[in-house]
Amino acid sequence: MGFKAKANAHRKATSGDEKKKDKKNEGTLPCAVNDCDNWADKKMKGRSLSLNDAEDMWGDGEFTIRKGRVRVCKKCYRAWKKDAEDNMEY
Ligand SMILES: [Zn+2]
Repeated sequence: MGFKAKANAHRKATSGDEKKKDKKNEGTLPCAVNDCDNWADKKMKGRSLSLNDAEDMWGDGEFTIRKGRVRVCKKCYRAWKKDAEDNMEY
């Protein structure tokens, strides 16, 4: 009786699925405004604006549309909000 030794291929399942939590300053969603380098992630207080709102503020083609919305960083949102408020007060 001979046992057939099966060569077990010991392979470690290496799925590159490591969570990136160490970098606080990096997000996943870049700000939609073209000349802005900030992140628009929710955890970074990013907000999403409607297309019309973004066009009023930055102009057509100056930002990236994502699923019909314009995701902007905190800074851009504030700028937009300030602008919108200024327009309201007359
Ligand atoms: Zn921005």
